Amino acid sequence: MDILVLNSGSSSLKYQYINSVSGKVYGKGLIERIGIEGSNIEHKKPGSEPYVIERYLPSHTEAVKLLFEVLLDKEHGIINNLDDIQAIGHRVVHGASITEPTLVNDEVLETLEFAKRFAPLHNPGAIAGIQGVEALTPGKPNVIVVDTGFHSDIPQENALYAIPYKYYTEDKIKRYGAHGISHKYVTLKTAELMEKDPEELNVITVHLGNGASISAVKNGHCYDTSMGLTPLEGLVMGTRSGDLDPAVVFTIGKQHDLSYDQMDTLLNKESGLLGVSGISSDFRDVTEAAEAGNERAQIALDMFINRVKKYIGAYSALLGRVDAISFAGGIGENSDFARAEILKGLENLGISIDPALNDGAREEKEISAKDSKVRVFITPTNEELMIARETQYIVENL
Ligand code: ADP
Repeated sequence: MDILVLNSGSSSLKYQYINSVSGKVYGKGLIERIGIEGSNIEHKKPGSEPYVIERYLPSHTEAVKLLFEVLLDKEHGIINNLDDIQAIGHRVVHGASITEPTLVNDEVLETLEFAKRFAPLHNPGAIAGIQGVEALTPGKPNVIVVDTGFHSDIPQENALYAIPYKYYTEDKIKRYGAHGISHKYVTLKTAELMEKDPEELNVITVHLGNGASISAVKNGHCYDTSMGLTPLEGLVMGTRSGDLDPAVVFTIGKQHDLSYDQMDTLLNKESGLLGVSGISSDFRDVTEAAEAGNERAQIALDMFINRVKKYIGAYSALLGRVDAISFAGGIGENSDFARAEILKGLENLGISIDPALNDGAREEKEISAKDSKVRVFITPTNEELMIARETQYIVENL
């Protein structure tokens, strides 16, 4: 089935037109600066130069309109008619009570409105993207695939915070996790590579990008994950702090007279690799600075590595038996250095990699040493394909 996959941010819209069975990508691109001066679309068709149009786009509806115009363009486009698009799959970061891929209707939109409080940067864009598509192609099936869905299996003992229970029952405060589409894709891919039934697979999935998270997957279902109520908890990220003592928030807040919103910005945008190194949020920049002898960059890098290592240890203990560890995301897929450092010294847990297989590797492949009890894989993530497959399933079962 040919599906248009949309990933709408607050001021951006990433898209891919993809076949959900073969995984063939007909075209993809990015619209940026929606609602801001200088908006543009960059469209890529395999084998062609990127096609760029600069046009002010005041809203997501206008952005979707431009997207359709480009998809239909005689020279640069990839479809002849909007009817060629059989369905649209939307990535949604936070689904609140929606955990399964779901056909969009008014009730679904209401739930996504409610979930804005948990994903204020992401959910408004997703809603606007859905409404934009609905306005321009009424009646076409729109399916949402939520990033929190894969984590909805996490049992209460791992999902709840140790705060008064009423905040869970009344305010729905719990660990929802994030990156679930990627963790699910990586889990299924690992099962495929191991020729194992996913329901019999225990795997630690490690997604390391600008945002980073790690999941303990037990018998194919998520048992624990590092991100929490929002994508701020867990690993050290590009600009996010990850785990910290909650007292840090009110201590700094009181000391510097910062509002909740200011603390939110400090922890989400000014922390992580950027905050500690003072150099960059980008893993490559920080690695280069550390190699050049920058002490703070080195500390940031070591914090990043050790935090992942610590979670692998914790999740090995929680799972009891670990069949595999699989790396994805810009850092997990591309940095042999990060993988080697993270797994260094974990031989006691039955984990060791073969440097000859790891060095320079960026593609889907196994990198474990022959005697490693736990198998280690690079499993480049493909969230768009996962969304397309889930969308196909919903549309076919309408
Ligand atoms: P996002 O969470 O924004 O999708 P990505 O998954 O694209 O992020 O990952 C971005 C991160 O991947 C950046 O920190 C970047 O430095 C890192 N990265 C990309 N390529 C490499 C590489 N070859 N070596 C090390 N890090 C890399």
